[in-house]
Amino acid sequence: MSELFEVCEGIWCVRRLSYFTCSYIVRIREGLVLVDCSMSSSGEDMLVSLQRLGFTSNCVKGILLTHWHNDHAAGASVLKALSGAITVYHKNEEPFLMRRTASAGLRGYLAERIPELGPLVLFKGLLGEASPKAVEATYFVDNGDIVFDEFEVIATPGHTEGHLSFYHIEKQVLFAGDALAVIGGKLRYMARAVTPDKERARSSVLACLSRPIKVVCPGHREPLKLKTEEECEALRSHACGMKPWPFWG
Ligand SMILES: [Zn+2]
Ligand SMILES: [Zn+2]
Repeated sequence: MSELFEVCEGIWCVRRLSYFTCSYIVRIREGLVLVDCSMSSSGEDMLVSLQRLGFTSNCVKGILLTHWHNDHAAGASVLKALSGAITVYHKNEEPFLMRRTASAGLRGYLAERIPELGPLVLFKGLLGEASPKAVEATYFVDNGDIVFDEFEVIATPGHTEGHLSFYHIEKQVLFAGDALAVIGGKLRYMARAVTPDKERARSSVLACLSRPIKVVCPGHREPLKLKTEEECEALRSHACGMKPWPFWG
C-alpha cells in the first residue's frame, strides 16, 4: 500500500498510494528522524520502509509532525511507543493529536467504523476530528526553534492552526507538509478547499520560501528536485503579488 524511494542522499520518501501522502525518513547524526508518520495507525508503512532500508525502529530518534491530519500522523503513536523517539509538534495541534476533539455520538461512532484504507479515509478525519491514536509530544516546538541541531522549525499555519514545516539547514531541504503542493514538477499553493485560513497560508508560503531551497519535500505527490530555485521564485512572486488564491492550488 506504500512505496519507498530515495529523494537525495540520506532522505527517503514513504508514499502511501491513497492520496499520495508522503512521509519522510531522514538520516541525522544520531540516527533517523521521521518527518510525518503515514496514514496507517498500525505504523506498518513506516516499519516496513525502515526494514527495507536495513533499519529498525530503534534507529528512530525523532518524530517531527507537521500537523494532526490522519494521513500525516496516524502512525506516530506506534512508532513513538516502539522507538521512544522524541516527538515534537505545535501546541495548537495537541487537542487533535491527543484525541480531545474526538467526536462523541453518531459522528464518533461512524468515524471509528470507517476503515483506514481506501477512499473514505478523509471522512474519517472529518467526522472524528482527531488523530486515530493519541500521540503525546515530548515537547512542543514553534517558529525558529532548532530540533536535533539540524532542522529549523517554521510555523506555517493556514491549512491547520498549528501547522509546521521543517527546514534541514545543511541540506537546504524544506519539509513543507501541507503548506505547499508540488503538482507535475510545479510548486503550488494547496487547493482552496483545504486552506481554511488563506491569509495566514499565504504568509506561511512566503515564510517557507524565504530560505535557500534545493529540494522541497511536500506532504503529497512528489518531491521537487529540478528547477527548484525557479519554482520557489515563481511562487514567491505570486504570493507577494496578493493575487487571488487559485481554486485547485
Ligand atoms: Zn493536511
Ligand atoms: Zn495531507
